[in-house]
Amino acid sequence: MSVLDTRGRPLRSLRLSVTDRCNLRCHYCMPEEDYLWLPREDVLTFEETSRIVDLFGTLGVDRLRLTGGEPLLRRDLPRLVADLARKPWVRDLAITSNGVLMASAAAELKQAGLHRVTISLDTLHRDRFERLTRMDALPAVLAGIEAVRRAGFPGLKLDTVVIRGENDDELADLVRFAGEADAEVRFIEYMDVGGATAWRPEAVVSRREMIATIEDAFGALAPIVEDSSAPAARFRLPSGQVVGVISSTTEPFCRTCDRARLTADGVLLLCLYAQHGTDLRRPLRAAASEETLLNLIQAVWAGRADRGAEERLGVRERGSYIPVNVLRRDAHLEMHTRGG
Ligand code: SAM
Repeated sequence: MSVLDTRGRPLRSLRLSVTDRCNLRCHYCMPEEDYLWLPREDVLTFEETSRIVDLFGTLGVDRLRLTGGEPLLRRDLPRLVADLARKPWVRDLAITSNGVLMASAAAELKQAGLHRVTISLDTLHRDRFERLTRMDALPAVLAGIEAVRRAGFPGLKLDTVVIRGENDDELADLVRFAGEADAEVRFIEYMDVGGATAWRPEAVVSRREMIATIEDAFGALAPIVEDSSAPAARFRLPSGQVVGVISSTTEPFCRTCDRARLTADGVLLLCLYAQHGTDLRRPLRAAASEETLLNLIQAVWAGRADRGAEERLGVRERGSYIPVNVLRRDAHLEMHTRGG
């Protein structure tokens, strides 16, 4: 069964936020002092998650990504991974993690059947890392990256949010680091998503600028032409190394977005910028039949018109998207609740 939204986009990929908790406080994601957390009793059990995931599989999803919050904070995560990895329709099972706890988790995740790992890494300077994230954890993250390699995961990706005046002088170093780590670095434009309350347009380093900086250091980049709904545009350096650029802010790619998001408490979101979601937890816990839940998800996706990043591009006086007082009332609006 497959379902298209109002713009003809299929539902192919599901991002599962398994917790809204995080052990870092990145300046571009969680800059506030305190947060409203999802009530623990609302967080889906693995069994509930698995049931919902199966419904998405029936509707055409074949790619799953675990995210958060920091997904490694979710207790027993390998048990969920093992369950998801056993589903025959899952073609790609990945995780996005900040890497702080990865050193002790990588081998078990690999054994549980996880296919791929993405680690967020914004700087190679320890003091800068601490300033950006409010935790002195760069050595732990680097150990996590090493553990992912040792565990034998193919296709390691490193995601870097590039912010002017913070880490935009590190692009070449990060490319070199990725080359040595046999990883693909992807530079992400700073987005004004909910939670990014410190966002300002001047801090965005555009895809165009990033490419110019990388070309200055390494020579001309050759675009890799691929038929893919993946968010990164990929380029080959003269050395053959591949780098990616995710231009969600200046050149959004809503047209090919086939991603749905499920928060840890079971709210289905159709866009990173969506202001409302559909609660799947309540009907699930009220013992709704599989058919009722399938019809609900199908109808919601069929009615999807979201193109949040493109709409933001049209906003003239652009500042942070959701004011702090509104975020304080609804955790679902936060990037760390919906997952990147
Ligand atoms: N904790 C995990 C991690 O750090 O990778 C997963 C969750 S995190 C919300 C997912 C991704 O979103 C990270 O790569 C993070 O850098 C990115 N992100 C968060 N806020 C962002 C923003 N304002 N602009 C662009 N990317 C952002």
